[in-house]
Order: sequence, then structure tokens, then C-alpha cells
Amino acid sequence: MSTNKIALVTGGSRGLGKNMALSLARKDIDVVLTYHSKKEEAAAVVAEIESQGRKAAALQLDASNIGSFDEFFDQVKTTLGDTFGANKFDFLVNNAGTGLYAMFAETTEAQFDDMMNIHLKGPYFLTQKALSLLNDGGRIINISSGLARFANPGSSAYASMKGAIEVLTRYQAKELGARGIAVNVVAPGAIETDFGGGRVRDNKEINDQLASATALGRVGLPDDIGPVVAFLCTEDAKWVNAQRLEASGGMFL
Ligand code: NDP
Repeated sequence: MSTNKIALVTGGSRGLGKNMALSLARKDIDVVLTYHSKKEEAAAVVAEIESQGRKAAALQLDASNIGSFDEFFDQVKTTLGDTFGANKFDFLVNNAGTGLYAMFAETTEAQFDDMMNIHLKGPYFLTQKALSLLNDGGRIINISSGLARFANPGSSAYASMKGAIEVLTRYQAKELGARGIAVNVVAPGAIETDFGGGRVRDNKEINDQLASATALGRVGLPDDIGPVVAFLCTEDAKWVNAQRLEASGGMFL
């Protein structure tokens, strides 16, 4: 059996999840990452991790499709055995997600449901179904957003789900503590990724406005976030539990 720690990172093909996967590998943690549509990008992340001397595998997952999770975890089980020589993993990072920019007055029920499925109901049941494969003493990291603390017009549905995942984090920590599992939530500020059509990265006006609202004077980059998640999976963070860790450079203070 493998003695190495293994992380499962959802949405590890691009953006923050990719950086989390690479940052975990730099901490000598092996990684199973998931992708939704970008199989080749995911394969490239696997290759990069392998080139760092760690093991990695990529699996397809629709993190909003709860009905697919049993089959997904069957694949995880097989992959753990085949690629890692393990039957369980240690860290679950609920990162996969999509954005929505719609004013409260105009948000449709379908948009609300999309946000709920990907950012709340998905992680809720994915984590529930992961429990039997997660080692005692493991870690769960949920991903929220600065928008759960401060309000920017147009993010009411998205941010409501992120707020809920912060509450869920505390309940999970309370109930899973008996197994030595700590649960924390990382809340990134605005980061330059493809998220929301890449608007933080590609729209200069938005980028400038967010940078000016940030104490450190710029928007974030994926490498501002991945190492925070990796840190929470190390022994150095062993006593950190049920916490919201905002990594935003100090937005809207
Ligand atoms: P990106 O758009 O760059 O990447 C999204 C990732 O999620 C991709 O790996 C994508 O897979 C995957 N994904 C998308 N839809 C699904 C789905 N239905 N099921 C499974 N996986 C899916 O986003 P970020 O990296 O920026 O965002 C990652 C997380 O960080 C999200 O939870 C987001 O809410 C949060 N966040 C982001 C901020 C930002 O400013 N960027 C700020 C605060 C929080 P594929 O590549 O295969 O399509």
C-alpha cells in the first residue's frame, strides 16, 4: 500500500485548481484531479506533476451532477489502486465551479439552480460520498469567495452558495472531528483565471477597479491561492480547523 498522501482536487484542469494540484505536488502529495470538459489540459497537469516526481491521475467529473457521484467514486477507487497503490485518499479539495453575473432582480430560477448545484449541493454530496474513501486524520478544503464577506452587485446567487459552503464547513468540522478530519474553507479574492469569462484578467476596467479595492494593490494570481490550500494539507496546519481563510490581498477592508 502507498505511504504517500493523496489529494483529490475537483476542477484541477485550469485556474486555481491547477495551481492547487501543482502546489500540493510540490509538498510531496500525490494528486487525483478532475476535469469537466478540458481533458487535454487535465492530462497536461498530470504530466507536469509526474515531471516533479509525484504520481497523478485525471478523472472526468460533473461536480453538479449528484447522480453521477457513485460511479465517479467507483472510478476513484480503481484509480487509487491502479495508479497509487492505495485504497483511500487523504485530502479532498472542493474547488470546481463556474461564475454567474446577474443582478438579483433578473436572476432566473435556472441560474440559481445551476449555482446551487455546482457550488453547494454538489460539494455537499460529493463530500458525503467521499467519506468512506477518506482516511481518518484527513483534510477537507472547501473553496468559497471574498464575495461571501463583501457584496458586489451581480453575484447574489453565486455568493449565497459560497456563504452556505462556509456554514457547511463548520458543520462538517464539528461532525468529522471525531475521525480526526479537519475542514477549512479558503476564500479567494478576485483572481486572474478563465472564471466568469476571464473578466478579472481580461477586462482592464474591472481589473483596475478590483486592484484599487485591494490593500496590496493588485488582483490575485492562481499562485496566490494554490499554496494556501497546500499549506492546509500539511502537518504545519494540523491545528487549523473550521476556519475561513481569506486570500484576497486585503480586498474591501
Ligand atoms: P476556472 O474557470 O479557471 O476553472 C474552473 C474549473 O472547474 C475547471 O477545471 C473546470 O473544468 C471545472 N469545472 C467547471 N464546471 C464544472 C462542472 N460542472 N463540474 C466539474 N468541474 C467543473 O475557475 P477558477 O479556477 O477561477 O475557480 C475555481 C474555484 O474558485 C471556483 O469554485 C470559484 O468559484 C472559486 N473562486 C474563484 C475566484 C476568481 O476570481 N477566479 C474568486 C473566488 C473564488 P474544465 O477545465 O474541464 O472545464
